[in-house]
Amino acid sequence: MSIAIEKNKCVGCGLCTEVCPGNLLQLRAGKAAIRDVRDCWGCTACVKECPRKAIYYYLAADLGGRGGRLYAENNEQEIKWQMQWPDGSQEEIVTAKQEANQY
Ligand code: SF4
Ligand code: SF4
Repeated sequence: MSIAIEKNKCVGCGLCTEVCPGNLLQLRAGKAAIRDVRDCWGCTACVKECPRKAIYYYLAADLGGRGGRLYAENNEQEIKWQMQWPDGSQEEIVTAKQEANQY
């Protein structure tokens, strides 16, 4: 269970480093990096925070995810969760932030 950082998309804004509850993320040479992916417990805070969709959550087979990638796009009202599957197909789920505690 972990995230991955796509360094070619990262602009080094540092926002992800401020939200990780385990303080696992840091900037190295102007790009986000994770100290040790084995320590990540997949809370997805960094995935939601990144304005460039440079961080994805890996949807492994043990999560029923078949190796897909979960990205998030955030605005004031909602989060768009975008899944990209190994066969190239995509799905999107939109959650309202005000109702987040009801899930
Ligand atoms: S998913 Fe959560 S624990 Fe893992 S690196 Fe991102 S913010 Fe930290
Ligand atoms: S929030 Fe995204 S763009 Fe900003 S440093 Fe982190 S990975 Fe890079």
